Amino acid sequence: MHDLSTASNDVSPLSLRKLIDLTHPLISSNVFSCPGHPMYAAQRTLSLAKGDIANVHTLQIGTHSGTHIDAPYHFFDDGIPVDELDLSLLTAAPAILVDMRKKNAHEAITWEDLGPYTARMRAGVAVLICTGWSKNWGQPTYTDHPYLDGEASRRILETGVRVIGIDAMSPDEVNPEKGDCIDVHRLVLGNGGVIVENLNGLEKVVESGIRLDDLVVSLLPLRLTSLDGSPVRAVAWESGRQHTSIN
Ligand SMILES: [Zn+2]
Repeated sequence: MHDLSTASNDVSPLSLRKLIDLTHPLISSNVFSCPGHPMYAAQRTLSLAKGDIANVHTLQIGTHSGTHIDAPYHFFDDGIPVDELDLSLLTAAPAILVDMRKKNAHEAITWEDLGPYTARMRAGVAVLICTGWSKNWGQPTYTDHPYLDGEASRRILETGVRVIGIDAMSPDEVNPEKGDCIDVHRLVLGNGGVIVENLNGLEKVVESGIRLDDLVVSLLPLRLTSLDGSPVRAVAWESGRQHTSIN
């Protein structure tokens, strides 16, 4: 009956590998959303308890609710919408986990900071920036996260990387005193890249003991026709390819 449950986050008897879930739970009326974005809400439409044939819910959800992906169309009218993204870049993609937990609130992450990680950056690789900030999810301090500076994002794109994820609200600084900061968004989305925001618990990847040079990640959006973004279920695991010898 419950064969597909992994509620304990342990490997179920049917699992082939240990997945690390990098997604925030969506809890009705209790999900942080950017100003002006819709609140996530779920309402029961059909109910077994009330004699209906099944349990069914109606969702109100924004394209940027919870852990989600920004498609180029988010900032560019002629940009690629979320349903036309190249899924091969988002499915079991080799991933580089950049540990930036040493950074403070509103501190920039520079190309220099990325030094130890840049040699592995190339086309087809996803760069996941771990600020450790997802533990502040739902708190007023959530928007005070470190951010990627413009030069760092430009250099990442120059390596061929087109997928950048972060465990914070945005790769750009969020600072009302400075107005809207969208330089990194415009740079990444304007060059055919995508941004994954509000990843959850990237530090678990570091602490899991899995081989970081063998990390893969899936960040699959819903097939929302012509839209600007989509919630994703983000999961990472060790591919095991490096342990497999071909004779
Ligand atoms: Zn977004």
